[in-house]
This record gives sequence, structure tokens and C-alpha cells, in this order.
Amino acid sequence: MPACCSWNDVCQYETNKVTRIQSMNYGTLKWFLHVIVFSYVSFALVTDKLYQRKEPVISSVHTKVKGVAEVKEEIVENGVRKVVGSIFDTADYTFPLQGNSFFVMTNFLKTEGQVQGLCPEYPTRRTLCSSDQGCRKGWMDPQSRGIQTGRCVVYKGSQKTCEVSAWCPTEAVEEAPRPALLASAENFTVLIKNNIDFPGHNYTTRNILPGLNISCTFHKTQDPQCPIFRLGDIFRQTGDNFSDVAVQGGIMGIEIYWDCNLDGWFHHCRPRYSFRRLDDKNVNESLYPGYNFRYAKYYKENNVEKRTLIKAFGIRFDILVFGTGGKFDLIQLIVYIGSSLSYFALATVFIDFLINTYSSNCCRLHIYPRCSKYCKPNEYYYRKKYESVVEPKRTLKYVSFVDEPHILMVDKQLLGKSLQDAKGQEIPRPPLDFTDLSRLPVSFLDPFPSPGDMAEMQPFSPGDAAEMQPFLKEAAARPKESPGWCQCGRCLPSRLSENRRCLEELCCRRKPGACITTSELFEKLVLSKPTLQFLLLYQEPLLALDPEATNSRLRRCAYRCYIAWRFGSQDLADFAILPSCCRWQIRKAFPKSGAQYGGFRSPY
Ligand code: GDP
Ligand code: ZN
Ligand code: ZN
Repeated sequence: MPACCSWNDVCQYETNKVTRIQSMNYGTLKWFLHVIVFSYVSFALVTDKLYQRKEPVISSVHTKVKGVAEVKEEIVENGVRKVVGSIFDTADYTFPLQGNSFFVMTNFLKTEGQVQGLCPEYPTRRTLCSSDQGCRKGWMDPQSRGIQTGRCVVYKGSQKTCEVSAWCPTEAVEEAPRPALLASAENFTVLIKNNIDFPGHNYTTRNILPGLNISCTFHKTQDPQCPIFRLGDIFRQTGDNFSDVAVQGGIMGIEIYWDCNLDGWFHHCRPRYSFRRLDDKNVNESLYPGYNFRYAKYYKENNVEKRTLIKAFGIRFDILVFGTGGKFDLIQLIVYIGSSLSYFALATVFIDFLINTYSSNCCRLHIYPRCSKYCKPNEYYYRKKYESVVEPKRTLKYVSFVDEPHILMVDKQLLGKSLQDAKGQEIPRPPLDFTDLSRLPVSFLDPFPSPGDMAEMQPFSPGDAAEMQPFLKEAAARPKESPGWCQCGRCLPSRLSENRRCLEELCCRRKPGACITTSELFEKLVLSKPTLQFLLLYQEPLLALDPEATNSRLRRCAYRCYIAWRFGSQDLADFAILPSCCRWQIRKAFPKSGAQYGGFRSPY
């Protein structure tokens, strides 16, 4: 786009010019890809409801655990072991936790009748001692139950441990009872009340609707909407055994997923419950398996404060509520349509890829055995589609030898070497445009003389003939000073300065043979004064110049004519170099007074 200079520059519309390829194969392929893209886009639109504005759920949860369990405890009273049964109800085994969680105790270790005082620690590898040297006064081990007094005292029999100031007697380091004391907690039930809200859609609902039968129990298939869950069933769903988990405790996630469609005609907003074990299942592998914590019940006995310490093992249930609510939204629909339109470009990308890979390169490299079948049309499409542009550099030059089918592109400094010997890249000669020939001046279209008439051939107008006679004679003779690089015998040494000379050291041929200047067309196309005058007047109809300036114009026009003839394309014209023989023939035909010619200069 040109820089904006005026109002007209602003009021422009640019559009791409495209190439339409009339091909049955590619046309079918295009429609096939379009149909696939369209089907996918429509499918995703409907199944994922991409026409809706989605909003995350916000919620509140409330839980109630119900159930009673009988616990048989073994206690030692006055040296006699006996089993006592006690009843645990909701108040005993559930604890409200922060967030959407609740805890159900399934197992415990009790240390009863603790008072503040001095007593020996429970014997472990860290606390055993043999004398007072083994203990340190004031030392507090984070693993121990109290602060050491520095004395080593008898714990039981011959076992001695460090004395601590703590709640005495200190808690025993014991494994959790097996089977779990409250293993029957698997029959407990929990009622979950969940209220949700989509504030953006101004919609509120809850999982327990008015008509719901409250005496139900959740079942994945038979009663998936029941909000009352049996704890054992939850574990069965995740493939765990409740009585195993009950020993050490664990963490279980109850997921409530709300996928709500709030559009009037498909309204649906019911929760889906699922369960997931959230702690480490492999008890043996984890360092601290299960889930437990300690708490104490305090009381006073004979005005002494005492406590019962309980290490509670159990299951923490985390309730995770998530989901989205979607409602039709025109903007969402427009955004989706807009973004999916780009997928239709897939056909273009794919077919262009085919054209590029199956065009000439693959034939040249013989990648595909039967490549010509695919390549020929593709190469044609490729040529129609792409226009290659070479960087216009000062060093760029094109050379055309009459005995070679290609044009040579030389893109390097010559550094004293003649252009005739320079190496370069071969590029195909642009195809001949026959329509251009019809624009040749009328005089040129006169019938060609037969070989016998050659002597009478009058390439120039009668007025010029006398002037040109000496040149014709001279041109017929081979110059004696034809330099070493010349293959046609008609080139002349350059008269340019030392460093630019190599540019003009170029012959019309690669290998020895006849010179292009001896061709009949050279005279008709390049040297014919009426033709050149016609071309000059064609450009500037009222052109009238003095002879010196006219010669200069005619010479340049002759250069151009030669280049147009031998290089064919306007793109190459600025960088095309004339062979020495042609250059001097033209200079002789249209000389400059003083004969000081500037030679080729790169326009860039
Ligand atoms: P001048 O009249 O003194 O400049 O001498 P020339 O007859 O050598 O050049 C006339 C014009 O033709 C200049 O603008 C040159 O750049 C251009 N010219 C000369 N030689 C070549 C050539 O080999 N190829 C092209 N493309 N242009 C040339
Ligand atoms: Zn030559
Ligand atoms: Zn030549």
C-alpha cells in the first residue's frame, strides 16, 4: 500500500488477485476438504454447545453424617483385662472441618488419665538410656512428648528411659488397632446438601429438590440423584475396601459436577456425583500412610486437671463442586463462526502444498517414479501462480549465449575475470510471446528476401544507405584484434577503465561458431534505423532531435531491442549484458562523437 499522502490514498480498497485452477481433481479435493471442515465445525458447535456463554459454578455445601456403631475396647482394670463395649454416635465420631470437608473417625488410640508431671518416656530407640549421661536437661526432641529433665529413670523392669516433664503417663507409640475399632462406620450415611449459583445467568438451584424421596440411598445407576451416600458404597465405587482404609484412615473426594444447559428448550441442570481417592493408596510405599490427628478431652478429678488423649484415624471426605452453566449468546456464536472460518483455508494450504511439492523439483530429483503425470500440470499451475523476483543487486547480471538454450544469471563481482568465463545459475529463457511480434513496425513485416536477393537487401532507408555503406563493409570483415575470450571472431576489446573492462568481455557464443550479428534478424530487429525510429516515435510521437542526440537515443533503443529479442522478459532488461560484438555493431551504426562510451551501469 502506498504511503498516505492525500484523501484519495485513503479511499482505496485492496483485494487479492487469485489464480483459479480449473481442475477436476483439485476441485473435488477442495470440496471434500470443505465438507470435512464444515462437518467438524458444525459437530463441535452442537456437541460442545459452543454457541453458549459458559460460566463457572459457585456453591455452598452442608453435610450430615448419621449412624451408630458399637466399639469393643480392651481395657486393663486392676490388672485384669476385660472387653467393654461402648456406643459411638454422630457426636463421637464426626468432626466438622474447615472448607467443604468432614471427618469420620474409624479407628483410635486412647491414652487415659494424663496429668501434668514428671515421668519416663515411652521406650523407643531414641529415648532409651543407661545413665543420666544419655539424657540432656532442657532438651526437647520434636518427636518426644515432653522436655527432658536430664535424669535416666526406670520405665518398666530393666528398661530405662529419659525422664520428661509432660502429660503423664506418656502416650505409647503403637500401631493402629487392626481390624479398625469403628469398621462398622461403612454403614454410616452422609447427606450432602449443595446449593449452586450461576451469578452471570442469574440462576440458582440445589441438589435436593422438593419432591425428592429422602429415604433413598445413592446408587450409580439405580438412584443417581439421591443425595444420601453410604460410606462403604463410596469406597466400593473407587475400588477400595472400606475396612482396609479404616485402619489407617484416608482422604476421599466426592465430586459434584454440574453441567447445566440453561437454554429454555433444552433446560437441564442436575448434578452428577463421582468419587475419587485423594490420598496415597499404597500404604506400604508412603512414609506416613493414612490420615490421623490427635485431640484431647479434658476433665478435673479431685481438683486436678486431667485429660484423655485420643489419636484419631479416619476418613476425611472432601466435597469438590465444579461445572459450568451455559446459555445461548449471540456474541459467542459470532466469535465461534469467525474462528472456524479460518479452517476453510485448510483446503488452500493443502492443495498449494501439493502443487509446490509435485512441481518441477520432484521431476528433476526423480523422487516420484511416474512424476511427469503429476508434475506436468502442477508445474504449469506453479508457473501461473508464482512470480519469482530476484533481489536487484549491483552485482546482478544476465547473459544470453546464442548457442545455449538457457539464460545465465551471474550474481558476483567479476574481480578482473572476463564475464565470458563467469559461472552462474541457469534460468529458463522466458517463453516467447507471439503477440508481441504483431506489434513490430510495418516495414519489418515486408516479405523476407529469398537468399538470392541478399545482395539487393536494403535494410536502411535510402537516405541512410550512403551513410551506412562503410559500416556494412567493415562489419563483413573480421576484426583483426578479436580478443582471446571471443568465440565468434567479431568482438572487440573493451575501451573501459581497467576495473570495469571485464563487464564488456563477453561474446555472443559459448563455443566457437558464427556470430549473432551475421544473422539477418540482427539487422532487421536491432540495427534497422526505421524500426528504431518507429519505436522511438511510438513512445514520443512528436519527437524531433538533433542528429547527435538522435544517435544516442537510437543506440539505446537498439540495445533495448537486442535485449528484448534475446532475453525476452522486461524483468531481465535492466541487468542484461550485451555481447561485445553486438555492442560494437550498434555503436558503429549509431556512433557518438568522440567515441567515449560510458558502457553498462547497474541502475541499482
Ligand atoms: P553512453 O551513451 O556514453 O552512456 O554509452 P553507452 O552507449 O555504452 O550506454 C548507453 C546506455 O545504455 C547507458 O545507460 C548504459 O547503462 C546502457 N547500456 C550500455 N550497455 C548496456 C548493456 O550491456 N546492458 C544494458 N542493459 N544496458 C546497457
Ligand atoms: Zn565474439
Ligand atoms: Zn558475436
